[in-house]
Amino acid sequence: PAQAGTSHQLELKDIFIAVKTTRKYHKSRLELLIQTWVSQAKEQTFIFTDGDDKELQTRTGANIINTNCSAAHTRQALCCKMSVEYDKFIESQRKWFCHVDDDNYVILPSLLRLLSSYHHSQDVYLGRPSLDHPIEAAERVKSDGSVSVKFWFATGGAGFCISRGLALKMSPWASLGNFISTAEKIRLPDDCTIGYIIEALLEVALTHTHLFHSHLENLQKLPIDSVLESSETKPEKRLNVVQLTDLKNDPQNQFKTVHCLLYPDTEWCPELKAR
Ligand code: UDP
Ligand code: MN
Repeated sequence: PAQAGTSHQLELKDIFIAVKTTRKYHKSRLELLIQTWVSQAKEQTFIFTDGDDKELQTRTGANIINTNCSAAHTRQALCCKMSVEYDKFIESQRKWFCHVDDDNYVILPSLLRLLSSYHHSQDVYLGRPSLDHPIEAAERVKSDGSVSVKFWFATGGAGFCISRGLALKMSPWASLGNFISTAEKIRLPDDCTIGYIIEALLEVALTHTHLFHSHLENLQKLPIDSVLESSETKPEKRLNVVQLTDLKNDPQNQFKTVHCLLYPDTEWCPELKAR
């Protein structure tokens, strides 16, 4: 029970949501996010990109951070972005760090509910494992590479979250450029490196969750009710809205459909007809 005068309830403002993007996706992907879920979490969403876009910034008021990392799709460039995300999170003093790609729709009420069942001062690493088995890599940080380590990692494309308590412990291998050198040592991508630091170096296990999804799965098969599982939307409100499964592979429509289910009062959403 909460003590008088203090609230223990986790709020959206306690979460730092990092979106990874690149200049060439500002129009095609970022605009859509800013129109949809980011609009409901403007203060907590930070967009990490690799080029200036003053126009987008002023027009939407989004927090756009130019990492000055290379715009190439290389391990170095992606790890550079993750390293900036990490440093900005530490600076932010927030309780949770969540990372998503620019092709993810974040169901904010569900995210809040999920994180509410953990405590930010505990060691929590939450995400969807990329593979059905742990990855094996040569141990080149604590030893010379002659032994190998097995560890799980959360796929970056489905989003993952890390508690502040755990993030602080990652600092020797993650802060101020250390993330890039750690990734270079083990020669693995950004999301694997996160898993490596947490599972192999800090010996904290990934909490596997199936509430996060990536397009590595066959998303057409996800029933809308399971996607919205723990959202605030009431079932009767869903009836007059286009079904997700009708929409083929068009993210514009899919994201807008999900958004209108969650926030039917949004000005551009179709009006719900009285039954
Ligand atoms: N991305 C990036 N730089 C690039 C290409 C992609 O930062 O040069 C980002 C992109 O914005 C997205 C993530 O990396 O957040 C994954 O990219 P994408 O969805 O295109 O590829 P996939 O999911 O198939 O790996
Ligand atoms: Mn993707």
